[in-house]
Amino acid sequence: MRLFEAIIDANHRAVAGDASAGLHPAEFADALPVIALTCIDPRLNAFFPNALALPAEDFIWLRNAGNIITGTLSSTMRSLALACAVKGGREIAIIGHTDCHVCQTTTTVLLDKLKVLGVERSRLPENVNDYFGMFGSERQNVIKACGFARSSPLIGPKIPVHGLLIDVESGRLEWVVNGYETLPANPLAQMPKTQFASIGELGSFKDFEMGEMKFPDMKIGDAALPEAPAPPVVVSPPPPVATLPPKKYPSKVPVPPPIKPRPTFSSRRN
Ligand SMILES: [Zn+2]
Repeated sequence: MRLFEAIIDANHRAVAGDASAGLHPAEFADALPVIALTCIDPRLNAFFPNALALPAEDFIWLRNAGNIITGTLSSTMRSLALACAVKGGREIAIIGHTDCHVCQTTTTVLLDKLKVLGVERSRLPENVNDYFGMFGSERQNVIKACGFARSSPLIGPKIPVHGLLIDVESGRLEWVVNGYETLPANPLAQMPKTQFASIGELGSFKDFEMGEMKFPDMKIGDAALPEAPAPPVVVSPPPPVATLPPKKYPSKVPVPPPIKPRPTFSSRRN
């Protein structure tokens, strides 16, 4: 059984009342940590990472309003790519939720609400709908986001991209896009770099320069300050090099089962 198959199984059993439902992270060490993109809705705070039966240290949590990805090279895609490359994320899950207020907000209503806040329409991008990534179906929004992430040149072909919906009442997960099944069908990510130019002619890469894929040998963020003077040289002994201990998982103790958002809930670690 693969990681998300085990997660869905444990989640469904826990929601059905099985108090022993959970999974052993050690059995899935090659698939951890997981990167999850969810909405900003505070009702989700109580669910994660417990609803996935994962320990907190194996759960990299990205959030934006509506768990929206607007393109293969969007800001959220950049964070997902860095979560894989810098933080070692092995699988991506885009997790929408039921009763999403972003989904229920029309462009007209959004403009009205922004106006109340003093935001003038004339100062907003022309296509407000596209800019904010408004959507009318939580499920379709997840599918669309998975499509962008799956075909993004920033995500390697070995990283599964799953799509799920979580019920904000019960915590039950529904598997909308099976990332293991879409894994082989990833021609864009498997193409050699030289073919990106022809992909760009399709439209989705029209603002993408080939040069952006060539990363200079400097720290991330340095490029934003090309003219900054060099920092003063501070003469001091180097700090001791910390060596992280190897990951240890309890071999026989399951992690907490998925939870329901009850005020009396307390995290159980054994
Ligand atoms: Zn939402």
